[in-house]
Amino acid sequence: MKSLRILIICLLLFQMSPVTAASSSPQPGYTIKTTYLYGRAMQSSPILKTLRTNVPVRYTTYNRSWSNVYIGSAKYFTPTANLKAGIPKMPTADRLRLVNKTYGLPSTYRSPQLVTLTVPTVYQKGSERTLMTAEAAYALAKLYYAGRKQGHTLYALSAYRSYSTQKSLYTYWVNTRGVSYASKYVARPGHSEHQTGLAVDMTSQRMKLGLYESFDQSPEGKWMIQNAHLYGFIVRYPKGKEKITGYNYEPWHLRYVGVNEATMMKQKNWAFEEWWIKR
Ligand SMILES: [Zn+2]
Repeated sequence: MKSLRILIICLLLFQMSPVTAASSSPQPGYTIKTTYLYGRAMQSSPILKTLRTNVPVRYTTYNRSWSNVYIGSAKYFTPTANLKAGIPKMPTADRLRLVNKTYGLPSTYRSPQLVTLTVPTVYQKGSERTLMTAEAAYALAKLYYAGRKQGHTLYALSAYRSYSTQKSLYTYWVNTRGVSYASKYVARPGHSEHQTGLAVDMTSQRMKLGLYESFDQSPEGKWMIQNAHLYGFIVRYPKGKEKITGYNYEPWHLRYVGVNEATMMKQKNWAFEEWWIKR
């Protein structure tokens, strides 16, 4: 174990190059009225697409009166007056949804509010792993920039995980290692908290952009664990709560619940399951 750790540290020292640079400006926002998307910053240019009301989009300011809107890899122009900086709030029941080995999500559950993260991600933007609900993505951006101010650069490794991805993962492990191994290490389809769009696995360059328990000893991990609640996140699988959560300690797995709830769980030292019973 000790030699493995030394090996990992050595690898860290030699591999300090970032995978993606910190993305600068696109923020998740939402439209407040029907928005026309143009190919150029001119009302007279043809309308290429029409956005429905309250659809979360990423956008940046183009000039005084126009903004760029990003849909997948395409970039459009729209009058800034049609965009409202803001985050669609999630229904409370969705924000506080308990997903674990007992309670699962329907195969069809996919939040309509998924947006691409604006923080640095290990996977290319466009991968489903870089999606979270707009409210959680915005909170994660705030956490990220607060960390940066203290000199800590965090990366998002894996956020949203669809039902079909969970199903293929689970099937793969059942076929290669058998049911008992699979059920120990991989969530049954519909039982991964990542399907909520509120969970994200965090890492850093010091962790070689991977997931290791020693993250909690690194400056970035220490800072994140200490401050996550200020932005509405809990460390979902804490040390010492393995029997309650059903999962081993995962210092890297954050779950968005909202600032008040996260602060309460932090202060009382409750796992999410305990909060549901004792609050
Ligand atoms: Zn996770």
